[in-house]
Amino acid sequence: MKQYRCNDCGEEQAITPTVWRCACGGVFDLVKDTPKIDVTAWNNYPNTLWRYVETMPFAADSKTWEHVTMGEGQTPLIVLDAEEPNTYVKVDYMMPTLSFKDRGAAVLMTKAKELGVSKVIADSSGNAGTAIAAYAARCNIACDIYLSDDTSLKKIAQVKAHGATIKQIHGTREEIATAAQQAVEEENVFYASHVYNPYFYEGTKTYAYEIYEQLKGAPDTLIIPVGNGTLLLGAYYGFKELLENGLIEKMPKIVAIQAANCAPLVNAYQAGDKSAQAFTNRGTLAEGIAIAAPARSKQILEAVRHTDGTFIEIEENEIVSAREQLSEKGFYVEVTSAVNYAGYLKYEKAPDEKIIIPLCGAGIKSNSHEY
Ligand SMILES: *Cc1c(COP(=O)(O)O)cnc(C)c1O
Ligand SMILES: [Zn+2]
Repeated sequence: MKQYRCNDCGEEQAITPTVWRCACGGVFDLVKDTPKIDVTAWNNYPNTLWRYVETMPFAADSKTWEHVTMGEGQTPLIVLDAEEPNTYVKVDYMMPTLSFKDRGAAVLMTKAKELGVSKVIADSSGNAGTAIAAYAARCNIACDIYLSDDTSLKKIAQVKAHGATIKQIHGTREEIATAAQQAVEEENVFYASHVYNPYFYEGTKTYAYEIYEQLKGAPDTLIIPVGNGTLLLGAYYGFKELLENGLIEKMPKIVAIQAANCAPLVNAYQAGDKSAQAFTNRGTLAEGIAIAAPARSKQILEAVRHTDGTFIEIEENEIVSAREQLSEKGFYVEVTSAVNYAGYLKYEKAPDEKIIIPLCGAGIKSNSHEY
């Protein structure tokens, strides 16, 4: 039986279209065994992230995804610079909606479609909302997206184009999430949350599977930006499944990156805390990771510590300069995504250390006045 288990109190609940959080306030994980990975089955599927569908918690004969997919996944892994042959960028802005959020959104909306829902609500700093809106359109499911009134106009235009209803809120990221959650309760609809719904992580875990195939093994180190931790946790779960199946020998180290102006996880990590305290967001160009109170902070900290990883914080001027440097190498990323490269530049790497940097979102998503 596929169900949810609370990460705080351990209470289990059946998966329904409307349950999204434990009564104790905790987040849900999926109750499941480590999937048995059959590498030979991958070629039975199109060259998308659905190559790995047999490792996801869907019924073996489920074909729902075939009508949802837009070809997401299998993004290029490229050596960043000939002078640093062990540093790769994973070009995750080459997705249908131009950010890595398509990994999670395609899988989560496939689940929503299987559950027969007719409407979803989500809140986002931009890219998750765009991806959910696009895949909701694909599924013929109505969609309301709660966004801040200072979200990049490009992202707002993208969400609107998919026919979603935009609910613009003047407030912090946390207040916007609360508004969405209240609407979910009042309207009794599916909360397509990239933070709360564990099916999203079944999608982002394919980041790890793809790297495994592209490198024919695991890298030493993953640089990963973290706001709510959806890429970080997905990558962690994916490599953990590969490890438990004996396909790799050790976990890559996770080096998590935050903007210094909104760094609750860096603080908790340095203080040796198990979970993060709420932080006052001092404002950052990296709008996509400006999360003052990440709901899965405990899991994120566990993942980084378990891989012997670390946290690095980035100043605003470093973000701007990293974006320029990446553009000069040919890669045009949105401002948030430059944090990842800034983190790499600050990281003290060992000789020959094999490192992957994700390019999470496309440059044209940022407002032009952001420079
Ligand atoms: C969502 C996003 C992030 C951060 O992801 P989290 O899940 O919040 O950790 C980083 N960069 C970009 C471009 C994003 O869209
Ligand atoms: Zn609970």
